[in-house]
Amino acid sequence: MDLQQIVDDTWNALADERGSGTPAGYIPALAQVDPTKFGIAIATRDGSVFCAGDADEQFSIQSVSKVFALAMALDREGAALWEAVGREPSGNPFNSIVQLEREKGKPRNPFINSGAIVTTDRFIGDRGPDEAVADLLSRLHNMARDTRITIDEDVARSESETGARNRSLAYFMADFGRLLNPVEDVLSVYFRQCGIAMSCRQLAEASLFLAFDGTDPVTGLTMCSTERARRINALMLLCGHYDNSGEFAFDVGFPGKSGVGGGILASVPGRATLAVWSPGLNRAGTSLLGARALAQIADRTGWSVFSGT
Ligand code: GLU
Repeated sequence: MDLQQIVDDTWNALADERGSGTPAGYIPALAQVDPTKFGIAIATRDGSVFCAGDADEQFSIQSVSKVFALAMALDREGAALWEAVGREPSGNPFNSIVQLEREKGKPRNPFINSGAIVTTDRFIGDRGPDEAVADLLSRLHNMARDTRITIDEDVARSESETGARNRSLAYFMADFGRLLNPVEDVLSVYFRQCGIAMSCRQLAEASLFLAFDGTDPVTGLTMCSTERARRINALMLLCGHYDNSGEFAFDVGFPGKSGVGGGILASVPGRATLAVWSPGLNRAGTSLLGARALAQIADRTGWSVFSGT
């Protein structure tokens, strides 16, 4: 299978539609990104990366970071993390507060904002917030073999300044005794993790562990156990796109995680990781063109977690 041809064909087939969808405007720094950006990268077991378009330009990974934060929180906390956050799809928008009251401040899953805030709290553990952020960044540097991955402090600050909704979620959960660290410490890590800037190439490379049972086949570095990698994939499939997760699973057929910066990270267990970026979002906050690109790649490659071959 000629993956470079597939990536090029997909990019060319959708190029005229660059700019479709609506970029996230509620984080002012994200609203300034050129909406016509469009990148695709596929990373495979042998270290090859197949790229098209703006695949080497860094963008704000936003909620894609929740996958890495989950893997690292599980590493620190073990299965006890599941006492703090659930594993059910929410069927609600990413920043919804409605279920929290009914479920006594326990978020439905680690990929909605409330769940990610709890996951970040456990990832911080008994360290200071700056140490936790440094740990996250250094793990990404190692997994992607690229120290150019940084935090876009302008995006993190912009999100903090306009972060009333996330503050509401965090203080509401704190009222139920769900957070171990001071709310503002947790949010300072959460906003910085959302502000991590990575390219499609870096994202695909850093996440190979997801497709290969917890261990990056290129670096040999283990991010998590086989069982945990499989469970993170399960959660991505069921909860990776908020109240749009069913559509994504239906159209694409493998686990993915979207972010409001327009990036989507996807994993095809045993085969590859994929990252796409196009800032225009659909109504649920998933990249419109990005999801379409992944559906086309799934179609051309035949890759699906539901495949019998
Ligand atoms: N930083 C964003 C927020 O908290 C993440 C949302 C997303 O990417 O889906 O609102």
